[in-house]
Amino acid sequence: MGFRLILAIGAWLLCAGLLAATPASAQRDTGMPLDVCVLRDGGGMDPALLIHQPGRFDCGVEQHRLGPGDYWVISRDIGIRSRSRMPLSIRWTSLWQAGVDIHTLYDDGKIVTARTDDRGITPWLQLGSVAEHALPRRAAKVTRVLWHVRGAANMRGIVLGPRLATQAESVRSNLLMAAIYAAFAGLCLALLVYNLALWVALRHRFQLWYSAMTAGLFGYCVTSSGALAWLLPDIANNDRIRLNYLLLGAVGGAAIMFARTFFEDRIYRGWLGRAAQIVAALMAGSGVLFLLAPDVAVRVADLTFTCVFTGLAVVVLPTLWRAWRARSNYLWVFAIAWGAPIIAAILRTLGNLHLIPWSFWLDNSTIVAMAAEALMSSVAIAYRIRLLSRERDRAMEGEEYARRLADTDPLTGLLNRRAFLERAIGRPGRQVLQIADLDHFKQVNDTLGHDGGDEVLRVFARLLRNAVPTGALVARMGGEEFAILASPDEKVEAETILARLRSTRMPFDVRVTASIGTCSGPLRTEAEWKALYRGADRALFDAKSAGRDRVRAAADRKAA
Ligand code: GH3
Ligand code: MG
Ligand code: MG
Repeated sequence: MGFRLILAIGAWLLCAGLLAATPASAQRDTGMPLDVCVLRDGGGMDPALLIHQPGRFDCGVEQHRLGPGDYWVISRDIGIRSRSRMPLSIRWTSLWQAGVDIHTLYDDGKIVTARTDDRGITPWLQLGSVAEHALPRRAAKVTRVLWHVRGAANMRGIVLGPRLATQAESVRSNLLMAAIYAAFAGLCLALLVYNLALWVALRHRFQLWYSAMTAGLFGYCVTSSGALAWLLPDIANNDRIRLNYLLLGAVGGAAIMFARTFFEDRIYRGWLGRAAQIVAALMAGSGVLFLLAPDVAVRVADLTFTCVFTGLAVVVLPTLWRAWRARSNYLWVFAIAWGAPIIAAILRTLGNLHLIPWSFWLDNSTIVAMAAEALMSSVAIAYRIRLLSRERDRAMEGEEYARRLADTDPLTGLLNRRAFLERAIGRPGRQVLQIADLDHFKQVNDTLGHDGGDEVLRVFARLLRNAVPTGALVARMGGEEFAILASPDEKVEAETILARLRSTRMPFDVRVTASIGTCSGPLRTEAEWKALYRGADRALFDAKSAGRDRVRAAADRKAA
């Protein structure tokens, strides 16, 4: 337990560290934050006039409160030159909008305009889904920048987190984001391939859900990083965002189904099992809804998506509670694996509902948290497979024990009649059967009592077992009658057995002797067994009749 606790705390610290350090270091050195002010586009407004009138803009309002529509956004005064030696660009977070124009005012009065087409800001997209626009280099200083944003869904803002970055800062940011996303994508791919291969061998259903989750996560890595815009330069940025939602919904759904199939069945008995399936379907469904939603309904689709993701709590919290109550083997590892995404999902939901401010940190937390989850889940899978294999070993041992129990005579530990016949019939070549029967055993019982008689049986059984070679079969056929089966070249001399018995000390030094009848012949079929046994039994009768404590052999039987 101590080891698990250390592992749990270590994993949580690692996740927390990743969550905190990754976006923080990505954000550092990526430029100077630019304050911006907003003005609703009333139509027919002239950018050349507006850019000179920053006083008309509202600097205090939270952008997301203004609702969807067309907007003008103006930066505070910049007063720096964009030169060849140190070109400047502005960077901001890519959002759902139909298009953007950027007007840059220089202190010589000139305005330079850049427009995006119907692909939105796709052409300006950098890794990390950051839009970047290089400010044209001129001899004059940049006074300020004016964005004209058309068709903003404005779910989180209009121009989010704008920064003024040097080329070096821009390159550094791209490099860092490339490293982060490449690491996550590589992790997802490796986990996917590894678990699919494992599924081929083990065929547990949870492995398929896990693979679906990592595949979705890989896709989400590609779409949310903006790398998709490089793979498909003609894709509209809004379509990239649609795919993003679709994949995130699929990842969420697959993650819940993974948990549903991973835990012991008793955890999901009753309503929780159904709830898990419903929430998983709703998650995937809300991603599809966002994919198909018409532009005007995209805010509704986004809200639906957010609400459905809060359904995660409806499933995960009772799952953890029940796992705790039912002392599930997997609780601890599940809690580690899901800690990061649960926290990230809660924070994101709070962010989506504007209960906490949106940040770069939140924007990228999903991928970090889900990657941590995927990584820890693979530990969970390894742990589960270990438990399963231990269970299987135990079952096999139990089976072996039960079989041995069914095959042995409880008093002597020798084979019983049924097990003896099972092994004897069908043996190739000639076989020698010896039937040994203790003489006057009734009297032995009378002298020693039944328990004493039992002890004599045990001693005789031990004697037989020690007398025969390993390939021979020894069985207690019933009462005080024993059978020995061996091939002619490894058979034990019956005389030897009788001599040993004579010299063996018995309880209260009673004298115990036996008679043996032998017969040899083929033993491939049931009929041959009956003939062989009849021969040996007759020989035994002869030995008894002739005065006991001796051996008689029947004539060898020929193969039929
Ligand atoms: P014979 O020399 O002709 O074989 O005489 P016998 O008394 O040995 O033969 P019989 O078949 O008449 O009697 C066998 C006795 O073995 C009867 C029974 O009480 C005893 N017996 C059978 N099974 C057990 C057992 O498991 N334990 C004990 N103590 N006695 C048993
Ligand atoms: Mg007897
Ligand atoms: Mg008998």
